[in-house]
Amino acid sequence: MKLVTYDGGQGPRLGLIANDSVIDIAEASNGALPADMRSFLEIGDAALQQAQALTNAQGRPLSEVRVMAPILNPSKIVAIGLNYMDHCREQGVQPPKRPTTFTKFTSSIIGPGDEIRWNPELTQKVDWEVELAVVIGKRARNVSEADALDYVAGYTICHDVSARDLQLEKGDQWIVGKSLDTFCPLGPVLTTKDEMPDPHTLSLRCLVNGKAMQNSNTKELIFKIPFLIEFLTRGITLLPGDVITTGTPDGVGNFLKPPLFLKDGDEVTVEIDGIGSMTNRCVEER
Ligand code: ZN
Repeated sequence: MKLVTYDGGQGPRLGLIANDSVIDIAEASNGALPADMRSFLEIGDAALQQAQALTNAQGRPLSEVRVMAPILNPSKIVAIGLNYMDHCREQGVQPPKRPTTFTKFTSSIIGPGDEIRWNPELTQKVDWEVELAVVIGKRARNVSEADALDYVAGYTICHDVSARDLQLEKGDQWIVGKSLDTFCPLGPVLTTKDEMPDPHTLSLRCLVNGKAMQNSNTKELIFKIPFLIEFLTRGITLLPGDVITTGTPDGVGNFLKPPLFLKDGDEVTVEIDGIGSMTNRCVEER
């Protein structure tokens, strides 16, 4: 299933995509299922099964609604740095022995078509990073690698927009550099895990003004998703709707020679097989 959060004039609603239409899950279930993604995921597998039965319900054309970030209010976003072999090679660094972790504040979330905005007095080195993001489907603590995928609801795309000058040059401010407002485009859909039996064979790309800058595959992931879930849940409870964004492959602007950064008017598209494509325009706020 492809689940979306969308606005058709009534504010954010949870929907299910079928044949280029979006079916309102709360309406189609006569209120048995909730109208927001996080509440829906909190119900667990039963909600997913009930939603599956709604795929023949009456929908409205997807083109008539605004697709938003699939989850607007996760309790947290856990981000993994330096997790692609090709990204290590481009920097000339050894692959890490354990995952590098940071967070993107949930206030940075935007959806497909929304603008990535920044103040050029604050940062002049805004960079792109396409990432596969895992959405948690069940409360998870002390989960073993073997059981980890049972706790996953599905996958979406995180564009881990990064202000490199803030992140790296002004005192290692990773969270500030990665959590500026609008720096976390998520979307366009949440593809449930039954449609993606192997998340470690997916092609992913980032295009800037139509030109492919990143083009890799999740097989390059150093720490695979089950390992990350075991590693994180040793001491941190992951809740339904929480997002783990798994790191970016090579081709970011900071390591190009010469480096290249996003500028006012640029259009950035991130794509992952089986999830879709999301474009955001860049705006420098003067
Ligand atoms: Zn990243």
